[in-house]
Amino acid sequence: MKIFIDFDDTVFDTAQFKAKLKNLLFKFNITQEEFEATYLDYPQRENKKLKFYNPENQIKKLEKLKKKSLEKARKKMNLFMRNLSQFVFNDFYFFAQEFSFAELFLVSFGDSEFQKRKIIACGVKKYFKRIFITKNSKGKIIRKQIGKFSSKKEQVFFVDDRIDQLIEVRKENPKIILIRMKRPEGRFSNLKESVLFKKNFFEGRNFFEVEKIIEKISSRSQNG
Ligand SMILES: [Mg+2]
Repeated sequence: MKIFIDFDDTVFDTAQFKAKLKNLLFKFNITQEEFEATYLDYPQRENKKLKFYNPENQIKKLEKLKKKSLEKARKKMNLFMRNLSQFVFNDFYFFAQEFSFAELFLVSFGDSEFQKRKIIACGVKKYFKRIFITKNSKGKIIRKQIGKFSSKKEQVFFVDDRIDQLIEVRKENPKIILIRMKRPEGRFSNLKESVLFKKNFFEGRNFFEVEKIIEKISSRSQNG
């Protein structure tokens, strides 16, 4: 069995992280509007290029906006970024213990430097056999990995909170078993779902539920 897992809003409480980041910047007289204008929740298309969030760029943008140096804020931000373990959902640790290190892969979407920093600073790196950060296709990365597995019959799961990512991964990997992480606190839990796609994935509200789904499916296939 192999399980590919998304990072933001799945393992990591990105909404809470954003809230803390905001509070930190508010202390340096950044307003709500200025924060929102310089923060990217998810990659955005601009002049045909995808733009990804990272805090260093945000500070630079804020400096331009405020026409002054924000060196103190930058230092505070760097300090804050050193330990992010408070943002890991607790149920993830339960999940990580239920499976072996060799079964777990992390696939994250976004700015590679920033994602790497978050993944290391929150302490989850050690639970994964491999970690992938991409600005392009998660589906292609997973397909390439599946090609390397010795047993082609092995069950492969993908867990992500975003429907568009599930769809993209399914396109590249028709046999993959999809589980949508639908946390009540997730930033994207209200996104419209594709009606056509609705029946083709499982849903869990946390890693306890995701683990149950995987147990059920894998024992079912062993018995059948
Ligand atoms: Mg996510």
